[in-house]
Formats: sequence, C-alpha cells, structure tokens
Amino acid sequence: MKFTDYKYEHMDIEALQEQLKAICSKLQNAASYAEFKNTFIELNDVNKYINTNQTLVDIRHTVDTRDEYYTKENDFLNEMLPVLKEDIVNCNKAVMASTFVSDLRKEVPETYFLQREMEEKSFDPIIIPEMQEENKLASKYQAIIASAQIEFDGETYTLAALEVKTNDKDRDTRKRAMQAYWGWYDEHAKEIGEVYDQLVQVRTRMAKKLGYENYIELGYYRMMRFDYNKEDVENYRKQVLEDVVPLDNELYARQQKRLGYDTLHAWDEKFEFTSGNPAPKYSREELVKRALKMYQELDPKTGEFFKFMTERELLDLDSKPGKAAGGYCTFIPNYQSPFIFANFNQTSHDAEVLTHEAGHAFQVYSSKDIFPIDCVWPTYESCEIHSMSMEFFTYPWMKSFFEEDVDKYYFNHLSGAVKFLPYGVLVDHFQHEVYENPTMSPEERLATWRKLEKQYLPQKNYDGIEILEKGGWWMRQLHIFMDPFYYIDYTLAQVCALQFWARIQKKDEKAFEDYKHICKIGGTLPFRKIVKEAGLKVPFESGCLKDTVQLVREWFENADDSQF
Ligand SMILES: [Zn+2]
Repeated sequence: MKFTDYKYEHMDIEALQEQLKAICSKLQNAASYAEFKNTFIELNDVNKYINTNQTLVDIRHTVDTRDEYYTKENDFLNEMLPVLKEDIVNCNKAVMASTFVSDLRKEVPETYFLQREMEEKSFDPIIIPEMQEENKLASKYQAIIASAQIEFDGETYTLAALEVKTNDKDRDTRKRAMQAYWGWYDEHAKEIGEVYDQLVQVRTRMAKKLGYENYIELGYYRMMRFDYNKEDVENYRKQVLEDVVPLDNELYARQQKRLGYDTLHAWDEKFEFTSGNPAPKYSREELVKRALKMYQELDPKTGEFFKFMTERELLDLDSKPGKAAGGYCTFIPNYQSPFIFANFNQTSHDAEVLTHEAGHAFQVYSSKDIFPIDCVWPTYESCEIHSMSMEFFTYPWMKSFFEEDVDKYYFNHLSGAVKFLPYGVLVDHFQHEVYENPTMSPEERLATWRKLEKQYLPQKNYDGIEILEKGGWWMRQLHIFMDPFYYIDYTLAQVCALQFWARIQKKDEKAFEDYKHICKIGGTLPFRKIVKEAGLKVPFESGCLKDTVQLVREWFENADDSQF
C-alpha cells in the first residue's frame, strides 16, 4: 500500500454529531466499567476517524493548493471542526465526571487526564466568538505576509524567496536584500502592529471571560503545559543570559574575525564562512537513498521506520508549483503512518528535513500503538526533543550528505544550536511583557522588543535598517501571531538535545537506547518525566545550562575553522 491508496472520506458531520451525543450519554449512563470502557474505545475510534480524514485533507491540500477538491474539503473542515470540537469536549467532560474514571486511570496514561484538565481550564463555549475572531486575525496576518511582492534587482520576490538572498555570498547583495526585506516590513509595520494589537485584545478578553487576570495563564493552559510555570521560565531565562549569551558573543566575534570584517552587520549574521555555507552535494532522490542507508546503519528500528516511509511514499520533499511553503511532520492514525512534507532547496535545510522531521516521524512511528490516540504524540513542551536530538544522532553520517563540507556543517549546526537559545527565549519573554501589559501601544511594543533584544542578542548591529533599530524584528515571527507562547519549547528541547550531543561526544552507548525509549513512550508522560526517562537534566534546574554550555565551549575551542 502507498500513500496514494490512503482513502479520504468526506465526513457526514451531522451523523458524527449524533454519534458523539450518543457516546456522551452512554458514558454518563454506563452501568458497569466494561460498558464505560467500551464506549471510551468507541470515542477513541471516532477521534481517530476524524483525525485521519482531517490529516489527509491537510496533506493533500498543502501538497497541491490548486487542487479544487481538497481546497473545498479544507474550507469545509475549517468550518466544521470547531462545531465537532464542542461535542468531543462534552464527551471528554462525561469521561472525567464518571464514577468509573478512577478505574480508567489505572489503564490510561496520566497525560490523558492532564490534557482534560487543561482543556477544562482553557475552553468554554462562551469564548467561541473570541476564538473565531482570533482565527480570522491570524489568517489576516498570514494573508498580509503572503501578499508581499518585493522588487529586487529587476525581479519580484516573496518574503521567503528574498530571505534566501539575504544570505547571499556577495556582501552587497546581502545588504541590499536585507534592506528590501525589512523595507517591506517597515511599510507594513502599522498594519501588522494593528493586527497584533487586535490579537492581544481578543486573547485578553478570552482570558477575562474565563476568569483569569490576563492571557498568560490561559496561554499556558492552551499550550497544555503540564509541568512548568512562569516562575520556572523566569529562572531559565536568567540562566540563558548568564551562561549562553557570553558564549554566543564569543562565537559572533570569531565569525567576524573569520570573515575578516570590521563590523558584523545584521546581513552578515547568517553568513558563516567566506567559502559559503555548507550544502548537501546530492539531489533529493540520492539524499533519500543515503538517508535510508544511514537509518539502517544507525539502528534496526530506525532502518525499519525509514524503509516504511520510502516504500509507502510518505515523504513529499520536492518544491513544486502550487505546493504550500514550509515543512512539517504529521501522523495519519488509521494508517499508522507518519508523513513528512518539505520544500527542498539544495541548502543544509534538506539535511535538516531528513534528520529533524524524520526525528518527529520516528518518534510517532515508535509510539503509534499507544491508547488512546491523545497520548501518541508528546505535547508541544516535549515534542521537539525527539526531532532536535535526531539531528545529533545522525552526525556520523553527515559526510555522506555534505562530503568535503562536513566539518563546516558540524561547526555551523552546533553554533546555530547555541545561537538560537537566546533568540528563542527573547520571543517568549517579549510575549510575557505584551500580555502582562495588554494596553501597550504598538509603538511601546516595538520599544519593548528592542529593549529585550539588546539583552539577549547584544551583537545585533542594525545600522542601515531603521525598522529593526526601532524594534520590528518580531513582526516576522509567525508564532507570536499564530501560537502565542509556543517558542520556549524549542529552546528547552534544544537544551535536551545538546545534552544528548554531550553524551554522544563521551561515547555513551546508552544514549541512543534512552532516545529510542522516549520515542516509544510518546506522549504518555509530561515534560519533566520524559526528560528524566531520557537520562537528561531538566533545563530549569540551576546549573543544567552551565554544564552543557561548558562542553559546547570546549568543542569550539578545539575546532579549527581557519580552513573554512
Ligand atoms: Zn520540529
């Protein structure tokens, strides 16, 4: 069987609503645990059925956005899924209110119940109008970004295409591309600032309606954060400032010296080597072949997994007309299949897809049999650990992708990992300030970003780009608009992945066994427990970052970049 044989069914929403209402009443009136449990299984089957069809539409629509049938189905589901959500939440409430719930707790992972608690704290039909408005505003932001048509050197570019030019080998091209890129944001700063202001207002209203002081607490519940709170994050931020920022400053200084520049301008930051950034040497077809060999050599389990992916054609990697931008990994429950979507562009990004996205896919492939479906994936707070760690576990095979560029790849990848941490924390810190002070004006928000940016990213030199000096960088960060507070997670996962990297450096044989173990347990445990199961330290613990950063620093001290 191949992906093209996976059958999509147009769902009968009314029939599903009827079925869910019947399930709800059976859960409420179950006379025995056996009856209750069977109904719970039925609910799980309905969830899997909805999820399967929704995912198939998502994939087929994004693979070809010009396909009329799946575009229509996509619109249909966007409208109908919130309607079904209410019925599903009612069933979930019936589960939690049942006298049999204590028996269920013995059979079902704790995270299932934690999810239900978060759901109850973050959802009530009274906020449906705000949720709909929020969706509209988020789509408006996306539409503004997608509408960008920027003239550059006689051609018209989208923001994503122009971004590639901002990393060009030629310094003057980089500078002009960056000025054109941010010039567009400067022209649209008022419009984007207003959309964001409306998003902040509507989210604050949502929070107040549910009885919260501001959006922060609600935001944490909506993100299903079981395991840490604002105070943990504050402590973690301090560690990033104390332990990571100094190392990054050294790396930027070294980069500037390597490039032979007097000043490291904003347009030089992503440009690591005068000889150009490392890129894989092969076509998509050849890279996939090499990835298969890599995963077969890494471990029998990863070999079996990647063979499944290729045989069933669960990788859509080529960039082609009509295909949506970006990349993702998803899971199709009724076919127990992960799926990887990407747009290969002949840069190191292609290798990241075959390691990072494949890490997500391997995780979900390993946990696909977990019951109920709600616990197959880890929640956001944990899910990037598996993907980011796979980037490090596959290091020994990167020569087969990058050939003579492989040492540049290691240098670039590891410095990218530690340079990312303060940025990720900044994105999170900014949002705390914003939602704590929802009456800030758009100008004050810009100033707030710039003030924080100076702490976390002191190397930034915005000479020649006015909007960035004013504090406009955050306008390009999609998550700030679409998924508030979803960002710190990436940095926490990066710290976990770096700990795996450190264990690999020390030839710790158990590292990959621990990795496979946490892939297999999927979303059955909350963040801190997953990290413990992995044999790693929780990033909030004082000293955790210091130890990890020390090892990274030593690696760089021993790395010779004079030949790059
Ligand atoms: Zn990811």
